[in-house]
Amino acid sequence: MFNLILFGPPGSGKGTQSANLLNKYKLQHISTGDLLRDEVTRMTPLGSEAKKFMDQGMLVPDEVVIGMISSKIDETENARGFIFDGFPRTKQQAIALDNLLDFKNTPINLVLALEVPDEELTKRILNRALTSGRVDDTEEVIKKRVEEYRAKTEIVASHYEDMDKVERINGEGTVEEIFALLCSEIDKVILPE
Ligand code: ADP
Repeated sequence: MFNLILFGPPGSGKGTQSANLLNKYKLQHISTGDLLRDEVTRMTPLGSEAKKFMDQGMLVPDEVVIGMISSKIDETENARGFIFDGFPRTKQQAIALDNLLDFKNTPINLVLALEVPDEELTKRILNRALTSGRVDDTEEVIKKRVEEYRAKTEIVASHYEDMDKVERINGEGTVEEIFALLCSEIDKVILPE
């Protein structure tokens, strides 16, 4: 199996690039943002708990997200691997994920970290807000989401850097240019020279 974490701040292009990568490498996509929004739409108890945090741009508590991921991994059979998008977002989530994958004997192989400057992030998310219909795409909530990222999520990169699994990718450029950079890093790991 090949397990990839696509890492980066809100608006760095994880969702767009995941869609392209899934297609090419036939991996299973796990986006905690999408899973949570689905719970909110279906008005499940988990969804109504999560919504309180999401609407304010705050991270949903670890135990809620970890439980959700754990059942998602378990219910996926015969996957060639996973792309984790928007997860792990805290060090505790990273440790939980490592344990879950250890149990399955299939560790994280690579973390691709998209790097985009703050002012470009806000511009992109505000632009996306025009069509996304997402309630958390207002200027105030975006600011909070970026703050949460800097305070709690950025250190997830160092967690995997200690294991020598991180490649940093310049996330500014066209979708095609960035996709090519991501693929070349994945191919190095999937087909070592
Ligand atoms: P973006 O990458 O644009 O910030 P996401 O769709 O990944 O958007 O996440 C939207 C919201 O869902 C986050 O602001 C947060 O409230 C919640 N969320 C998503 N993933 C996680 C996670 N792994 N841990 C905690 N909260 C999460």
